[in-house]
Amino acid sequence: MTGNMHGAAHQKTATGDFLALSGARCRCGMFSRHGGVSNEPYASLNVGIHVGDQPEAVFTNRQLVRETMGIPALLSARQVHGQGVYCLTEPLGEDLEVDGFDALVTNLPDVGLTIQQADCQAVLLFDPRCEVIAAVHCGWRGSVLRIVPQVVEVMARGYGTIAADLQAVISPSLGPCCAEFVNFRSELPPGFHEFMVRDKYFDFWRITQAQLMAAGVAEAHIQTAGHCTCCSDDYFSYRRATRQGGGQTGRNCSVIALAGN
Ligand SMILES: [Zn+2]
Repeated sequence: MTGNMHGAAHQKTATGDFLALSGARCRCGMFSRHGGVSNEPYASLNVGIHVGDQPEAVFTNRQLVRETMGIPALLSARQVHGQGVYCLTEPLGEDLEVDGFDALVTNLPDVGLTIQQADCQAVLLFDPRCEVIAAVHCGWRGSVLRIVPQVVEVMARGYGTIAADLQAVISPSLGPCCAEFVNFRSELPPGFHEFMVRDKYFDFWRITQAQLMAAGVAEAHIQTAGHCTCCSDDYFSYRRATRQGGGQTGRNCSVIALAGN
């Protein structure tokens, strides 16, 4: 699929092919909130089932994601800002949403590992040697829990991944421009303080990069989309929705899949 880093409003994907992943068996798509069928405040490509949107609209939106990716099934999770890792070991005939996980791993083709987002990061991982992929939902709690390096560990133990082989992509998400943590002294560990860019504002993109590199991923293998979802109206943003009202908003998605043979 072809991607456009600064897609027009009607485009579903904000970022399609990433250089490091192109030409491989791996596909990834980082979808904006455009191109779906949901109405405000979920307009329009909302993939979140539990955010108050019409179920039929969400179903249609997920179908649009499958078609755009060219894959028959999506594996997603009802995410809980925890550290549960779900490893898919049986082929999927249809979409499946597992409950209570924040990371998805598989070496099976034709399944789109799908992360649902409204400011949180999706971190997509691809091991081209072992042909295994992972998708991680990582908000600030996930950063504190170090879920990303834990997934690298799961891939190493379960699939033989060597971290130095991994390609990683960090999706559009809350940027250092908007990641204000007034209670950072109680919420964030002291190790995060070096990533404070100005008073109470933190660079969680760099925190994830640092965690990946500490886990053995090469700096040259880490790509960061660098778009702030709170600043850009092209994405759902919990922070922006909270600022503007009750925080009701949809979820855009990031997907990674291995193409079938
Ligand atoms: Zn911002």
